[in-house]
Amino acid sequence: MKITVVGTGYVGLVTGTCFAETGNDVTCVDIDKAKVEKLTNAQITIYEPGLEKLFLRNLREDRLHFTTSLEEGVKDASIIFLALPTPPGEDGSADLKYVLGVADHLGKILTDYKVIVDKSTVPVGTAEKVRKAIAKNCKTEFDVVSNPEFLREGVAVEDFMKPDRVVIGTESERARKVMGDLYAPFVRQGNPIIFMDERSAELTKYAANSFLATKISFMNEIAQLCERLDADVDMVRRGIGSDERIGKRFLFPGIGYGGSCFPKDVQALVRSSAEAGYDFKILNSVMDVNERQKLHLMPKIKKFFKNNLKGKKFALWGLAFKPNTDDIREAPALYMIEELLKEGASVCAYDPEATNNVKQLLGDQISYADNQYDCLEGADALIIATEWNEFRTPNFLKIVPALRNKVIFDGRNLFETNAIKELGFYYESVGRMTAVPTNGVHNK
Ligand code: NAD
Repeated sequence: MKITVVGTGYVGLVTGTCFAETGNDVTCVDIDKAKVEKLTNAQITIYEPGLEKLFLRNLREDRLHFTTSLEEGVKDASIIFLALPTPPGEDGSADLKYVLGVADHLGKILTDYKVIVDKSTVPVGTAEKVRKAIAKNCKTEFDVVSNPEFLREGVAVEDFMKPDRVVIGTESERARKVMGDLYAPFVRQGNPIIFMDERSAELTKYAANSFLATKISFMNEIAQLCERLDADVDMVRRGIGSDERIGKRFLFPGIGYGGSCFPKDVQALVRSSAEAGYDFKILNSVMDVNERQKLHLMPKIKKFFKNNLKGKKFALWGLAFKPNTDDIREAPALYMIEELLKEGASVCAYDPEATNNVKQLLGDQISYADNQYDCLEGADALIIATEWNEFRTPNFLKIVPALRNKVIFDGRNLFETNAIKELGFYYESVGRMTAVPTNGVHNK
């Protein structure tokens, strides 16, 4: 099949590459000239495990093309995917200007039947708006389908190639057949393609992300309670996670959820609910809890340094909003940095993949290290904001002499509290007891 993907960001590039991988001829369109030029020259633009290999192979096999021209991109395609941004507008609702702008343009250039597929996360009713925007100028038949994307950054290729489910919202038999054929190679192991009406498909994506965000905020509240009641959130997590009705995943407390999806999608669902005359109370609390949680470590840090962070230097491990990605959108680390700088402290950060993105955003407001140990040199404490695997079993023999104080503030609960106490560290984490070494804290 000939496929066009409009928008070549995290979702668009993975979608285009994975469809090419199953033998389709794919053209990715983007308005960002520099991005298109890089991709055309075989330079990948995002970090996503496993993507580069597939990208290079399909480029070599001439199944993957890039252009800035929508006309050129859609000319021969039978299916056009929209993987465009839907950022929050001023009132928190999803801003549809990119999606509707492209829909309007498509209406002017379509010459034969196409299936236009909305892969962006969009509020209920958007497929209808897209249909109207295209139909305004369009002389040919077309169908609009809602096909929300559930991939997770960091495991996006795996999620796309072997999805738990594919949700397709359409009432058109013709479009249903096209979409069923396209996705057949991805569900050979028996995972379902769930066909439904387009409004339910649109809501399914928001419901999924909001439910997951709720799980995180719920556990963060349990963690808050654990700290006040001298209970251990790790134990509680294991205790409840073994109940099949609850499940083991998404029960890890921390310094809040970030990324380009959960914060904006929860906000957008609250907004859609309000517009529909419904006050979605749980989700308002989910957002409040997350706001508070992002700075959960700050009072602990301030307390340790007796409310004076002026001139203190902090080593920061992790900048990406989660491991295995270079995405820093709404990353909790950025909120921590802002607070630390406001208090007069300085920060030296290390992240395996996201450093360049932060450099573009913050420049020399902080300093950057080339590895996880270099940033510790002369720091008053280590802060951990992202649970990259390489932070899980570090070489403590390198950490101890580099830090001024044996102090760690861990927003991702990477270490066993007792083990780290044995090593002589003062250790604060989330929802667990503070580890204070038996012979006290020795500040240099
Ligand atoms: P992104 O910002 O990484 O990519 C969007 C791309 O669209 C950019 O490259 C931008 O240059 C391009 N673009 C903007 N206007 C354009 C236009 N008029 N024509 C062509 N290209 C244009 O965004 P993303 O993270 O890929 O998200 C895209 C959508 O998918 C959003 O609705 C998001 O909510 C949803 N989604 C994202 C994820 C995720 O993990 N990132 C997962 C599922 C769903």
